[in-house]
Amino acid sequence: MIIILKENPNKSQLASLIAWLRDKGIQVHISEGTSRIILGLVGDTSALDIDLLSALDIVDSVKRVQEPYKNANRKFHPNDTVIPVGNTQIGGGTLTLMAGPCSVENEEQIIAVAKAVKAAGATLLRGGAFKPRTSPYSFQGLGEDGLRLLLLAKKETGLPIVTEIMDVSQLPLFDDVDIIQVGTRNMQNYNLLKVLGEQEKPVMIKRGMSSTYEEWLMSAEYVMAGGNRNVILCERGIRTFETYTRNTLDLSAIPVLRRLTHLPIIVDPSHAAGDASLVAPLASAAVAGGADGLLVEVHNDPEHALSDGKQSLRPEAFGRLAKNLISLHQFMKTLEERT
Ligand code: PEP
Ligand code: MN
Repeated sequence: MIIILKENPNKSQLASLIAWLRDKGIQVHISEGTSRIILGLVGDTSALDIDLLSALDIVDSVKRVQEPYKNANRKFHPNDTVIPVGNTQIGGGTLTLMAGPCSVENEEQIIAVAKAVKAAGATLLRGGAFKPRTSPYSFQGLGEDGLRLLLLAKKETGLPIVTEIMDVSQLPLFDDVDIIQVGTRNMQNYNLLKVLGEQEKPVMIKRGMSSTYEEWLMSAEYVMAGGNRNVILCERGIRTFETYTRNTLDLSAIPVLRRLTHLPIIVDPSHAAGDASLVAPLASAAVAGGADGLLVEVHNDPEHALSDGKQSLRPEAFGRLAKNLISLHQFMKTLEERT
């Protein structure tokens, strides 16, 4: 971090600023130019409040030269994070396929879809019990009962489960859930993120629909700062001027996040496209681009689904897609080995 001081700063204010910074374990390098003094700060500046420093009488401006996230930063943790889940793992060269309905609707539906996606090669079952719907009049999910049905499907198939939490008060119900999903609309629910940081279960954070990579990584940082290092990022499309698709899948997120962070990266082509016919090409593009896995909505009767039927694949289509993705992932690995 660099602090540029105003001309002729008050000497005692400057001395106390430097002493305060050194007291925080930060080294301060002082460069005196002809008219300006610049302070170069070395050390962990992530906890420094830029706005507070900028507001000081003697300070002209403050610039960060390092990212404000530390735990999620690849610079400090060069090796990829690999998260064990059930009999599988997220990251570390494994292709994770999370599949299942948008919402858990009833026992027959979730058991049928769970069995079908497992047979097709899915490594995790997804399904929403608490649903964040745009309209309060839309189906809101089965709640606690939905979680019970998901756990039943886990027992029947052995597939670990990933499902969304909407509020801190729901956490006690998530004891047997394998991955806790934080949805797009809650990516910046800092209270929720903090509480999820104080427990150990893996947390998958979906990208806020208008969030930058840095904002997204700061949300991961909230969880990690509490001590939970098991964080997964999920790109699910962002808001742009384009209205043809539900969202715009930002595939640049994959190589950019690979550079910035060591956390696993999952891609959700279903919520990005909003249209089942676009899911396969986007999913393939994500695997070719280096994603650690996919989150795909699958329903046994999309026409009658209580949410997101339009973007849901039938189990047979998911089966064909999964087969292709597994081959593509193998092929990408051979390419990597060659280079
Ligand atoms: C979901 O995964 O069902 C969901 C609601 O996704 P998002 O938070 O990305 O909209
Ligand atoms: Mn959905």
